Amino acid sequence: EPVCAGPLPVLGRDVTVPLVTGGEVSYAALDYAASAPALQRVWDDIAAYAPYYGSVHRGAGYLSQLSTDLFENSRTTVAEFLDCRPDDQVIFTRATTDSLNLLAGVLPADCEVFVFETEHHASLLPWQRHRVTYLDAPRTPARAVETLERALADREPYGPALVCVTAASNVTGELWPVRELAAAAHAHGARIVVDAAQFVPHLPFSVRDLDVDWVAFSGHKLYAPFGSGVLAGRADWLRAAEPYLAGGGASRAVARRPDGGVDVEWHTTAARHEAGSPNVIGAYAVAAACKALTEAGFDTLVARERLLIEKVRAGLAEVPEVTVLSLFGDDAPRVGVLSFVVEGWNSSHFAAALSAEYGIGVRDGLFCAHPLVRTLLGGDPGEAGECGAPEARPGERSLNAIRVSFGAGTPDEHVERFVRAVG
Ligand code: PMP
Repeated sequence: EPVCAGPLPVLGRDVTVPLVTGGEVSYAALDYAASAPALQRVWDDIAAYAPYYGSVHRGAGYLSQLSTDLFENSRTTVAEFLDCRPDDQVIFTRATTDSLNLLAGVLPADCEVFVFETEHHASLLPWQRHRVTYLDAPRTPARAVETLERALADREPYGPALVCVTAASNVTGELWPVRELAAAAHAHGARIVVDAAQFVPHLPFSVRDLDVDWVAFSGHKLYAPFGSGVLAGRADWLRAAEPYLAGGGASRAVARRPDGGVDVEWHTTAARHEAGSPNVIGAYAVAAACKALTEAGFDTLVARERLLIEKVRAGLAEVPEVTVLSLFGDDAPRVGVLSFVVEGWNSSHFAAALSAEYGIGVRDGLFCAHPLVRTLLGGDPGEAGECGAPEARPGERSLNAIRVSFGAGTPDEHVERFVRAVG
């Protein structure tokens, strides 16, 4: 199996941080699931383009034309990265949350939505203006498919429906059976959107092969800087709906009516949902990240990440106080994202100690997936959760968890230091 020679160079790799015990150490960023450091290569591409950028669309000047080309070519690069169908639209958004809210706004008025309670809040919450069925947490991938099939078969009346599911959990890193869920959705006349925020930085995604209708992801988790994301997929519902934002760029023609009102003809391309001056550098950065990962080769990236996952799993298995959180079982395939609790420790204090004593940055809390984390911690998904959860008293179950996550820029030493620190 080919293994990448080493981590891809990322920004921040030379940052050192002080330790409470004295001295300093290189910062170990192990919170990639929140935001991954930008690849040096992406940053270099942005720097090379930056002197030339101008506002896109309709500018007569050279820089405006150049920027328009780069912006539109960025769509093509993203479409290739996602292996989209020829008629799919690629819309640049602010991030996954924005993409899914955009899609929620274009659903047919009578569309029903089906979503597992285990979703990240970005894929759990945007649908509430529609009729939503929240599906119980499944304990196996096969159970997820059965649960969805049953819910879709039971629906009445049989109108348009959308299923929203995450491809890789931001809490457990576990992979969801997207292909099977898409087949189940289509068999029952529903469409499916995939939240691939945690999937695309780790594994190749194919819209065609998985046969999904839409996919959403964030640039800042895909080794690009903040501020840009993508919604890609079927054009028909996007074209039929009112624009996400009303304004210039989305409108093709605007005229006063004799009765005093205003008539608008909206674009039918991706521009329909991109009103205002778009984030050209952000779109360019996402495309640069797509190219960089493709060129590095997912085969080698995946092989190396598997070794890191194994190191973390093996290291945590050595510590009897540690419980790794999992919905589908300890051996379920996952990306480089893993949450756990440590008996006798408040998770927030544990994470703070990793930072102060070892220079390791992880995350603690409920990870914007409150019902899921409650379930995984043995509680009730109906309990209200807050991110700054109070301390569990001795003998009580933890109320929040610790998450470690990593990827293409993570040196072995960061993972080894983490394992040593937890041990
Ligand atoms: N979905 C998943 C699975 C995520 O992990 C995140 C970010 N934690 C989001 C959606 C939301 O992404 P963003 O904050 O970039 O909109």
